[in-house]
Amino acid sequence: MMAGDAGTAVLETHNDEPIISDKNKTKYDVIIIGAGPSGYTAGIYCSRAGYDTLILSGLLPGGQLVNTTEVENYPGFENGIMGPDLMIDMRKQSQRMGTTIIDDVVVDVNFRRKPFKVLTSSEEYEGRAVIIATGANPRKLGIKGEETFAGKGVSYCATCDGPFFRNLEIIVAGGGDSAIEEATFLTKFATNVHLVHRRDELRASKIMQERALNNEKIKFHWDSAIMEVKGDQKMQQAVLKNLKTNEETTLDAGGLFIAIGHDPNTQLFRDQIDLDDKGYIVLKNKTHTNIEGIFAAGDVHDRSYRQAITAAAFGCMAAIDVDKYLTESADKQ
Ligand code: NAP
Repeated sequence: MMAGDAGTAVLETHNDEPIISDKNKTKYDVIIIGAGPSGYTAGIYCSRAGYDTLILSGLLPGGQLVNTTEVENYPGFENGIMGPDLMIDMRKQSQRMGTTIIDDVVVDVNFRRKPFKVLTSSEEYEGRAVIIATGANPRKLGIKGEETFAGKGVSYCATCDGPFFRNLEIIVAGGGDSAIEEATFLTKFATNVHLVHRRDELRASKIMQERALNNEKIKFHWDSAIMEVKGDQKMQQAVLKNLKTNEETTLDAGGLFIAIGHDPNTQLFRDQIDLDDKGYIVLKNKTHTNIEGIFAAGDVHDRSYRQAITAAAFGCMAAIDVDKYLTESADKQ
């Protein structure tokens, strides 16, 4: 494996096992940008395969799961696990395999020449391969009470949180495929689902629209915006405004699922990596991007599944592809 710069060894402990990571090192075999399920899983696989691996975790180590409560659908946890705990365990597992994790924000990259350069505000790192695992963020409505009641009624993922909302009135915001899919899914749990859309026509595909329009449990609030979420310990009400009449109404509801799209975190790569019209990374072959040696894993390229388990799986796949790439590169030298 590649020899990096000599530096001070940092000792961390987990279950009484020493973990040696050298935080002054700047040269790595693999640099992983992002520390959600895909980044940590890629770290586990790359380190375990013997590669010198660095994860630059960004501002929110753990990614979107840090903002969730209980995760019931990640296999292996019979009684569920709290999202932040799952991410701490993944982080420690990756470290135990030998991954160096630095909680710093990447401010620039240079993928035009090899070794690839990844810059934070304080350091410049070099990697023979890079895995982009920066994820995506659900769009926010930006209304009063949205932040206060996040995780206490306000959610951005019906698959993740729907089962916690049994026998409640639930609101879904949005008019695209995600909103319709989530509204339909949530009828399994809710007494009623109120779909609030800002226009009088859905953006979702016809077949999904028909399914929702024929579902008696889904009530449509057309030309409407959600102005505010109210409650005490948990969300209890939402204020809706009809955008044509300006009339405001208060709806009693225990949940608000915001499904107005996601924004992939790809601004840094815009000039170098091929992105689709919505900013997601376009994969060329398996997890390879348009640049040989740069790979992508998780929500940063995946518009469809967006689950912790699928992100983790993509991290594993990217690491296996990195292994093949580095082995073949070494054979060519
Ligand atoms: P999307 O297609 O961009 O739809 C976003 C929806 O949210 C639109 O109806 C939009 O309203 C509304 N919206 C956006 N900003 C808003 C705001 N600030 N306030 C209120 N409403 C707002 O996003 P998506 O539904 O997440 O779908 C993303 C992609 O994934 C699409 O290509 C979709 O087809 C695909 N997808 C497919 C499936 C499936 O096939 N099973 C499931 C989910 C997603 P307007 O309509 O007025 O613009």
